[in-house]
Amino acid sequence: MIILSLRQGIGAPPVPVVQVNERVQRGQVVAEAVPDALSVPLHAPVTGKVCEVNEQTIRIEPEGQAESYLPLHTDKPAWQVVKDAGLLGRGGAGFPAYVKLQTQLEPGGYVLCNAAECEPVLRHNLAQMMEETDKLFSGMQIAMQATGAEKGIIGIKFKHKDVIKHLTAYIKEQNLPHIRVLPLRNRYPVGEERALIRDTVNQLLPAGALPVQANCIVFNVETLTGIHEAWVEKKPAIDKWITIAGRLNKLAPGETEVRIVPVGTRIADLVEDYGGIHEPHGEILLGGPHTGLRAGPDAAVQKMTGGMIVTGPFPQVEGPLGIIQCACGPSEERMKEIAASMGAEEITGYEVCKNATPQKVGYKCEDPGHCPGQAEKVLGIRKAGAKAVLIGHCTDCTNTVMGSAPMLGIEVWHCSDCVMDTMGLARTRTIQDENE
Ligand code: SF4
Repeated sequence: MIILSLRQGIGAPPVPVVQVNERVQRGQVVAEAVPDALSVPLHAPVTGKVCEVNEQTIRIEPEGQAESYLPLHTDKPAWQVVKDAGLLGRGGAGFPAYVKLQTQLEPGGYVLCNAAECEPVLRHNLAQMMEETDKLFSGMQIAMQATGAEKGIIGIKFKHKDVIKHLTAYIKEQNLPHIRVLPLRNRYPVGEERALIRDTVNQLLPAGALPVQANCIVFNVETLTGIHEAWVEKKPAIDKWITIAGRLNKLAPGETEVRIVPVGTRIADLVEDYGGIHEPHGEILLGGPHTGLRAGPDAAVQKMTGGMIVTGPFPQVEGPLGIIQCACGPSEERMKEIAASMGAEEITGYEVCKNATPQKVGYKCEDPGHCPGQAEKVLGIRKAGAKAVLIGHCTDCTNTVMGSAPMLGIEVWHCSDCVMDTMGLARTRTIQDENE
């Protein structure tokens, strides 16, 4: 069963145009974009029969596993084809990609490729850069042409030396002097849009500002390959690269696998593909340990889903627990969900990093990944009576918390601990080595 959510990413949900019992082909539009609104259509990721249409979802019973699809019409401008493809930004909130392609940059502008793959454990962007290098550079050049960008930069963490070498060799072979690879520090969140702009073109935009204010447009790796697929292969956004990890019977401890699955694939079906959950487990996380969300019973892969991680049981905390929230980490709701899973009966003190500035929804960081000092927040938690603190901080701020909290008798927990424990990775704490 394929479960297509009508509410994917940012914008008005598309309007269903299919009926129950109707047979649909892979690539066929099943919900149309709302006219004159920020909205993209939704396509059938499989050939099959529509079994349910309601205000939230369209369910399709697949028939076989066809690879082919109904092609898009490409006799339109690139942005329009990308809109018709239903392409959303595949690295985060799911902003419609066509809007960025409509931007006209000033002379000297940049298309930036966010290849930081900032979340620990996830590696499908790295895999795709190695396996679909042609598509990545093709998408980059289509985006540069559409926006008038003169230069392209691929920002990738310097620890991924093999991928950097591969991309650099490709640029040389293909003679693409207007595109370059720029190594980034191995810290979370260097892939945050304004962090990437700061670390590539040396401009720190204010919280809430758009990349165009720095004469830049930012796409993630898979969005650029999606632009190529829409424009060159006439393919709608119907498949998704994801990382699978965690306590699944067919995965060894610490192993990860990269898969390409149809959008709408049920998480329960993916779990079954891997022989079920290796119990005991804590949760099924969709996305990475900083910004991922717990999967509900009817969860399915969406156009922006980056991974499925089945975690082990949550570590348990003793004594009163306070929380310090980060702008680039879990929301308040998610932090409290993690705290409850760690056995905290109530929250004793709640603080937000002083770099986090409130937005219409959530927070944005003033200077992502550069710690403004955390001692005041840790003292606030201690004053409220907490003996332990759960943080959602970036690498730099976690390092700072570690410089004060243990000395004040406060035990430190990080929102990513459960995932890191599950994967046998070192917990995020004090920075030991910039290269790791
Ligand atoms: S400085 Fe604060 S708000 Fe910004 S990334 Fe670090 S923890 Fe988050």
